[in-house]
Amino acid sequence: MSSDAEEGQPSEDRRKYEFRKVLDELDDFEGSGTQLVTIYIPDDKQISDVVAHVTQEHSEASNIKSKQTRTAVQDALTSIKDRLRYYDTYPPDNGIVIFSGAVDSGGGQTEMVTKVLESPPEPIQSFRYHCDSDFLTQPLEDMMTDKGLFGLIVLDRREANVGWLKGKRVEPVKSASSLVPGKQRKGGQSAQRFARLRLEAIDNFYQEVAGMANDLMVDKRHDIEGILVGGPSPTKDEFLDGDYLHHELQDHVIGKFDVAYTDESGLYDLVDAASEVLADQEVMKDKREMEEFFENLHTGDKATYGFEQTRRNLIMGSVERLLLSEDLQDDVITYECPNGHEEREIVERRHSTPDHECEECDEVVDASDAGEREDVVEHLIEIAEQRGTETKFISTDFEKGEQLMDAFGGVAGILRYSTGV
Ligand SMILES: [Zn+2]
Repeated sequence: MSSDAEEGQPSEDRRKYEFRKVLDELDDFEGSGTQLVTIYIPDDKQISDVVAHVTQEHSEASNIKSKQTRTAVQDALTSIKDRLRYYDTYPPDNGIVIFSGAVDSGGGQTEMVTKVLESPPEPIQSFRYHCDSDFLTQPLEDMMTDKGLFGLIVLDRREANVGWLKGKRVEPVKSASSLVPGKQRKGGQSAQRFARLRLEAIDNFYQEVAGMANDLMVDKRHDIEGILVGGPSPTKDEFLDGDYLHHELQDHVIGKFDVAYTDESGLYDLVDAASEVLADQEVMKDKREMEEFFENLHTGDKATYGFEQTRRNLIMGSVERLLLSEDLQDDVITYECPNGHEEREIVERRHSTPDHECEECDEVVDASDAGEREDVVEHLIEIAEQRGTETKFISTDFEKGEQLMDAFGGVAGILRYSTGV
C-alpha cells in the first residue's frame, strides 16, 4: 500500500484518472465556445501576479467589438479571479491549471464552465495565458500519457549527452566532451603510438560516459522501462559491446539507433528514431498484465472479472491487481428495494438513471428513488485503495486489451488467492 493511500489522499493513479476525466470533458467543448480561457500557473508564481495579469486582460477585453464575445471573455476572467481567491501566496505543489469559458450547451444556449486542476503529475514549467476557441489541454494531456521513464544516451567519440524521456518529455541532464584526438596525427609522432593513445582516449571517454549514465540511472533502474542508445556507427556499438555500462543498465537497453547529433538535440533525435520501439513498449506492460490475467483465468482460479464479482473480491481484500480498461466510462448506481435488498446497476456515463427491478424480489425501484450515482472507476479504486490493491489501467490498443473492455465490461482482477467467488 502506498503511503498516500494510508493517509487517505487520492493515489497518483486516481488523481490521474480524475484529471483525464476532466480533460475528456473539456475536449468535448472544443470549438463550441466563442472565447475560452486557459491559465497554467507554475508553483513558484505568486498568486497576486496572476490576479494582476487577469485584471489586465479583463480591462483589455473591453476593446472586443462583439458584445457577446466581450461578455464571455470578461465573465470567464471574473470566474478565474474568484477561484484564485482560494489560494494564499503561491499555488500548491506543481501548480494549477484553470479553464474557464462559455460553452455551447445545446439548443443555442451557452453555459459558463470553470474547472480548476491542482497539482498535476508533473510541475508546470512556465506561466501561460491562452484565450482561444478551445481550451489548451495539450500540456496536461502530455503529462497524463506519461507512462514510462526511459534513459537516454547519445554519444560519439567527441561528445555525449545523457538524460530522460519522461512520458513525452525529453529532459537533458548531463553532457561530456572528450579529448580524443582526431584521426590526423601530428608530424613526428609514430603511427603506432598515435593509434594506441587514441584508443586509450576513446576507452577513457566511454568509461566517463558510462559513469555519467550509471550515476544518473542506477538508482532508478527499477523504475526505468528501458534505455535507448544513439549515435553514429560504430561508436554506439563499441560502447555497448564493450560492457561499459553497469550490467543492470546494460540489461535495460531496448535499442540502439543511428543519430547524427550527439549534443542535447541528439536526445530528441534519439526519441524520434525510437518511436516504434517506444510505442510497442508502451503497451508492453499492459500486455503482460492481460497475459497473466488470461493465464490465471484458464489454468487456475486466481482471476476475477465483471463489475460485481470483481467488487466482491475487492471488498474481501483478495485482489492483488485491479485491471481497469482505459475506455471504461460508466457510472454505477446503487438501489435499495422496499425489502431492503441493495443492488447496483451499471449505466453509461451520460445516460439517465433508469428504474431498477430488484433481482431478489422483483420489486421495482423508481429512478427518482435511486441511491448514489458514482463513476465506476472511482468507486472501484476507492475500495482498492482501502484494501491495498494496486490498480492498473489497460489500454485498448491491443487485442487482449480490447477483450477486457468488450468481454469483461472493462473490469477484471488478478487475485492473491483463490476465493471461489
Ligand atoms: Zn428486493
